[in-house]
Amino acid sequence: MNSENTKHLVETYPHLFKNFGYFECSDGWFKLLCELSEKLEPVFKENLPENFRHRVVGQVKQKFGGLRFYLDWYPESEALNEQIENDIEEAEEKSWVTCEFCGEPGKTRGGGWVLVLCDKHHQENLEKKNKRASKNAKNEN
Ligand SMILES: [Zn+2]
Repeated sequence: MNSENTKHLVETYPHLFKNFGYFECSDGWFKLLCELSEKLEPVFKENLPENFRHRVVGQVKQKFGGLRFYLDWYPESEALNEQIENDIEEAEEKSWVTCEFCGEPGKTRGGGWVLVLCDKHHQENLEKKNKRASKNAKNEN
């Protein structure tokens, strides 16, 4: 994720992304992450202990094509945790139909390395792959 979007998330949701590093996914999921953070930030703002020195969100990344959002810290309340888990699950589900490059509607593509892409970025990705393949073929001759 680019530094502008990273900065926006970390500054807009400072409790949720306290001490957070960087997002290991592309910018198409920025809006999706904003929506999720909008829901989670108030929970952590209210429940985080004072002088908390660790991370709340441990990792945000794309894994096997979909979004993964891992927390390192949870509030004590069972009910809150259930709500948090539901919100995260909802965002992770949305990532499966959201182009990771641009945020347009997408679907999973590819066999070995799965990505969720819209038609345009799927096409671009295929062209890149073909170019690489023909280059490799040339090098072998
Ligand atoms: Zn796209």
